[in-house]
Amino acid sequence: MKLVILDRDGVINEDSESYIKSPDEWHPIPGSLEAISNLNQHGFRVIVATNQSGVGRGLFEMSALNEIHARMHRAVASVGGKIDAVFFCPHTPEDNCPCRKPKPGMFDEISARFGIDLSAVPTIGDTRRDLEAGQAAGCSLMLVRTGKGRRTIEAGALPSGTVVFDDLAHAATAIVAAVGGN
Ligand SMILES: [Mg+2]
Ligand SMILES: [Zn+2]
Repeated sequence: MKLVILDRDGVINEDSESYIKSPDEWHPIPGSLEAISNLNQHGFRVIVATNQSGVGRGLFEMSALNEIHARMHRAVASVGGKIDAVFFCPHTPEDNCPCRKPKPGMFDEISARFGIDLSAVPTIGDTRRDLEAGQAAGCSLMLVRTGKGRRTIEAGALPSGTVVFDDLAHAATAIVAAVGGN
């Protein structure tokens, strides 16, 4: 089984400093939906792992998060793609939970759910937290320049082995090419 693990905000959809609190605030980054479909067509199951502390901060309810994800699933389906599962951490940093990235808890859950080791599984994020969580799980690390990506690059040294792409579309193209697709 081939997996790709994606961050959500800043990778699939435009990020917002004031959080994505409702489906109306969820806007896909150009090319990201097609990128997911492209990965699917080359045999990759796409999984999302996302910190959603807005829930723990009381900014939006779980029901809103579910509606946002329903919108995301519909949008991906509209271009023939599929996200197999969405793992999210609803906690705040103060909760000190094991799932909030940069901790690898969600990656451990993904590994258990799908019954595979995550070493060399591509993970794509826009922040250092995403990369560090993936690094702890042994993933292949990819940073996109969308979302907080440019800021992450400017902030300095990335985990070793991190490969940088303009956006999810370019990262997906590289992943597909690496397995002999086109
Ligand atoms: Mg992000
Ligand atoms: Zn958590």
